[in-house]
Parts: sequence; C-alpha cells; structure tokens
Amino acid sequence: MRQFLLLWLGFLLLLSAACERTLQTVNENTIKILKVVDLSYVFDDSTIYWPTDTEGFRHEKVAYGKTPEGNWYASFNFAASEHGGTHLDAPIHFAEGQQSVEQIPLERLVAPGVKITVAEQAARDRDYRLTAADIQAWEARAGPIPAGAIVLVETGWGRHWGNRAMYLGSDKPGDASNLHFPGISREAAEWLVERRVSLVGIDTASLDHGPSQDFITHQVLNGANIAGLENVANLDQIPEKGFLIVALPMKIAGGSGAPCRIVALLDR
Ligand SMILES: [Zn+2]
Repeated sequence: MRQFLLLWLGFLLLLSAACERTLQTVNENTIKILKVVDLSYVFDDSTIYWPTDTEGFRHEKVAYGKTPEGNWYASFNFAASEHGGTHLDAPIHFAEGQQSVEQIPLERLVAPGVKITVAEQAARDRDYRLTAADIQAWEARAGPIPAGAIVLVETGWGRHWGNRAMYLGSDKPGDASNLHFPGISREAAEWLVERRVSLVGIDTASLDHGPSQDFITHQVLNGANIAGLENVANLDQIPEKGFLIVALPMKIAGGSGAPCRIVALLDR
C-alpha cells in the first residue's frame, strides 16, 4: 500500500510538472505577442487564380440595403476554385490517399515559422528554384530548422501581386504552358521532408516553379503528407525566425485545398 502511495505521489508530481511546462509554453506564445502580421491577400475580382481557372473569385450580391421593414441587411454568395489567392494545398492535392483539408491536424497549422529568402536569386532568374544548398546555408547561419516548423519561402514575388503578367509570367487566360515564376526544387523539398516540417509555403502561385509540368515538388511534399501554402502575402514584413504561424484554411470536407487566412505572431 505504501509503495502504491509513493507511486501515486510520483505520478502527481510528474503531472504537475508537465502542466507547468504547458502553461509556460502557452504564456511564451501568447503574453509576449506584440505584433500580428497578415500573410493573406483579400479575395476580390483581381485575385490571381491559375490561368486555366478563368472564372476567378465570384462574389454575388443577394441583398445590400434596407429591407421593406427599414432594417439594414447585407448578404452575398461566393464561389471559387480551392486553388487561388492565398490558399492551402492539402496533401491529397498531389498524393492519392493522403489527408484532405479537414483532416490536417491543427498542430500542423499552428506552429513556429521560419522564412528562407531567395529574393536575390529570383530577381536574377525568374524561374529560380530554392535549392537544398540554400536551405543548408540558412541553417548554417540561423540554426537547424526544427521538426514541426512551418517553412515559408520568400522569392520577392509579392511585389508583383496584382499584375498577372509579371506574377505568373503570362496573362493569357486558359493557357498554363508558358508560366515563369520562382519555386522550390525537388532536392529542397526532399530536404524539408527529412526535416519533418509541418507545412511549406511560398509567395508565388505554386510550390513548383512556373515552367514545371510534372509538379514534382508538390508530389514530394504532398506524398510525405505535408500541405502547402501558396500566394502567401507580406513575407517582407516578418523576420527569418522567432514567430508563430497560424494558417487556418476553410474546413472543406474532402477538399484538395481551400482559401486560407494566415497570420504571423511576432514577439517584437
Ligand atoms: Zn494549390
């Protein structure tokens, strides 16, 4: 009996230590937040969708004004592809049998973020792909990318948002055969899979660079059950590490992707 009591006491002590750690973590992540940065674009007529999706974002007025009773009433219908504007690619997008949007654990969508910048390389070559060497150079300077991190790739393409020809490399509706914008190489994707990251995002229309026809980077990441974030906004406003990302897609059952509100929580 005494032995049992001692065991029970030990268990209680362990439990309270665990609780304290959890509380400390929560405090670190909430109390110190000084700044919230919006990493999503608005959805409207000008939102950029893949060239083969010519309908874009539809937002139709149902009511907007005074009712016969004199009360204000506003309501709209909306419709859109899952894959346009700031959005999430669920693993099932390019990998059969992997998670759809609503199945992605929240722990993967709310996690510490890191940002890797290749804006100089992309300014010289608009088809540039993030390399494994770029990631290694980042890690040599800033430390290893922690498992579970959300990795954001900054190509500087955000400055072209709103200009389809500059952003996609072509503004020919219905034609996705002549696109030119930066992306992520297969080797870099494989490196990120090895690092067991939660999500990989980029400030262009696709994880793969514009000329890609096989979407191998999507295949590698989605194949490892890693979701993507595309058309991520305002990456120039966040540091290279030391922030939390909250990326919450619309919870579409069975969805291969969804519009996504992404924010970075900074402590400075
Ligand atoms: Zn997508």
